[in-house]
Amino acid sequence: MAGFGSVFMPEMTIARYDGEQWSPSEFVPSDKLEFHPGAHGLHYASSVFEGLKAFKHADGTIKLFRMDRNLARLVKSSNLLSLPPIDIAATEQMIIEVVKKFAEQTPEPPGSMYIRPTHIGTDAIIGAAASPSQTSCLFILLSPVGNYFSGEAGTLRLLIEENGMRCAPHMGMIKSGGNYASALGPILQAKQTYNADQILFCPNGDVQETGAANFLLIDGNEVITKDLDSTFLHGVTRDSLLTLASDMGMVVTERSLSVDELLQRVANPACEAALSGTAAVLTPVGTLIRDGQEYTVGNGLEGPATRKLRQALNDIQWGKVEDNHGWLTSI
Ligand SMILES: *Cc1c(COP(=O)(O)O)cnc(C)c1O
Repeated sequence: MAGFGSVFMPEMTIARYDGEQWSPSEFVPSDKLEFHPGAHGLHYASSVFEGLKAFKHADGTIKLFRMDRNLARLVKSSNLLSLPPIDIAATEQMIIEVVKKFAEQTPEPPGSMYIRPTHIGTDAIIGAAASPSQTSCLFILLSPVGNYFSGEAGTLRLLIEENGMRCAPHMGMIKSGGNYASALGPILQAKQTYNADQILFCPNGDVQETGAANFLLIDGNEVITKDLDSTFLHGVTRDSLLTLASDMGMVVTERSLSVDELLQRVANPACEAALSGTAAVLTPVGTLIRDGQEYTVGNGLEGPATRKLRQALNDIQWGKVEDNHGWLTSI
């Protein structure tokens, strides 16, 4: 099967900001995008993105999951990188229109349509490293995806990194390209040296997140994860899973977690750990590696709480249970 995010629908919706206002949105072919090679976003990374999914229900309808949250984050990311202002209502329409157009191609469960809104500064001025782009373009790209979660394939191996960080600490909550590029060197090294799948960034011993997913520790009836601050990405999946855990009567604790406490807790055979994100959903972690030493999380396999939480989220997304929290939008 083609890799996650490597197949695209042939058209996307796009709108451009000319410094004063947004153009009406239009459909254009999705295999190219024209802007000047001197565009601000290409040189100075004034570029942000989002990731959300549309799900096909058994009755044939298509539902968007927590679009309001993703749009709020797109607004915040754009503001923090001094990009032009996003028009939330218009962007919502751009998403709905393109998802509608390709409704037929939305994969059946366990697949979905992955939606990638992207906002890029387009001023053609390479002398403007220290000033924001006045113009920008916003497009909504669609990529049908299968079941990214491959539970049967085993659990993840994470290298604990206590010295470096994923990105600049005041920029962690922005989905911007530079944050991901800056984490690549350490991730490649972790793969080569330790056969690790990902790095769990823990600057100064504070457990944060991996390159593109949040980290949850599930110890018995308690879910522990870092409380929101500017250093890491505020995942919509994280928020949804914490809400569902609380609905199930689990104790949800958002606080700092040290690497020492983490390693102590995972020695408990009933302890579980997992990564959460729109793509990963909730993927179990089986091994942590610190200073060359390996620590098995619980029994090293996917645990029942991880399975139960993922199932609860999937059941809402796929319309198998009531959407009590109003997370789905019909198109
Ligand atoms: C996108 C992302 C997440 C997960 O966010 P969701 O809204 O759940 O998809 C977590 N960490 C990073 C660094 C991310 O880029």
